[in-house]
Amino acid sequence: MTSLATAIIEKASAIGFDAAGISPTAPSSRRAEFDRWIASGMNAGMNWLARDPQRRTDPAQILPGVKSIVSVGLSYQVEDPPPLLWNDPLRGRVARYAWGHDYHDEMLPMLEELGEFIRHELGAGADAISRCDVDTGPLFEREIAERADLGFIGKNTMLISRGFGSYLLLGEILLTANVAEECGENVPKGTCGNCERCQAACPTHAFPAPYILDSRLCISYLTIENKGAIPEELRPKIGNWIFGCDECQSVCPWVKQFRKPGRQLFLKFDPEFCAPQLSALLALDDAAFKSRFAGTPLLRPKRRGLLRNVCVALGNSGRREALPALECAARDAEPLIREHAEWAIRQIENDAK
Ligand code: SF4
Ligand code: SF4
Repeated sequence: MTSLATAIIEKASAIGFDAAGISPTAPSSRRAEFDRWIASGMNAGMNWLARDPQRRTDPAQILPGVKSIVSVGLSYQVEDPPPLLWNDPLRGRVARYAWGHDYHDEMLPMLEELGEFIRHELGAGADAISRCDVDTGPLFEREIAERADLGFIGKNTMLISRGFGSYLLLGEILLTANVAEECGENVPKGTCGNCERCQAACPTHAFPAPYILDSRLCISYLTIENKGAIPEELRPKIGNWIFGCDECQSVCPWVKQFRKPGRQLFLKFDPEFCAPQLSALLALDDAAFKSRFAGTPLLRPKRRGLLRNVCVALGNSGRREALPALECAARDAEPLIREHAEWAIRQIENDAK
């Protein structure tokens, strides 16, 4: 490895990243699978994924002349939630990455600091750095991270680090400098072997085959990116997840093995953000919703989307004490919330028969 490559990886560690690597660039080897996935409609309503696949699968389309990509990982593993709260059907579950402020705000300044360092080290080649991305760009981050030796892609489609499991936020910096010339091709170390736990654990059977995720069935899509109604047949399978889902990660033996928290503890278990009381969420008007979730990923589905999810979770609780809040939500000005509240009321009343 070149001394510059070593210096970049050491600097990434000093900044606080839990994993870092560098890979030479090449078009994605998964383009044909990606095209088939899009053609089959498994990107659900995420139409932006189908736009300009050439740009998405070839880093040179983003930065002409790109030769190396620095890939970094930041662990968001923190302590497990208290089971009493986590399993309380009158509380909602929030995916672990969203237990706090928006991770982009944490990670982008770290990436920018690393970018500044590289710019300084490159000197005359300072214009070599194109961009710092944290999952907002078009790149196939997991494949790039796999090539940079950060881990391997598991059957649940997540990048699995041998040191940190899959609770790892990824980012990258594109360089026209040939920093990776001596890094060579990495062969992914680690494998799923015969394990199929994630496939069996998925509540909505969103994996038609290992390594393939049908977003139309995935709770993460249904509760975050999906702007419309949640299909009725899927609602009972969502349980009390109200924002995302970690089931296919939490069962993974690699995740179980690497339970130690990362070094940057930017998340922590706070019951009212990680497992909030559902009825209280239904009482939020638009201003209260924005104020409560300001600066967090939970703003993304907006009030209408989050309260839609809350109604589904309360319907799944089967608990009659949820009825007053749901009856109120059934009179909400937002039709999406009204319809899901009415469904939830029917669920609870049918459960009681
Ligand atoms: S996030 Fe949840 S719903 Fe989506 S594939 Fe994983 S286990 Fe299934
Ligand atoms: S649960 Fe098993 S099959 Fe799924 S990603 Fe982890 S190791 Fe691979």
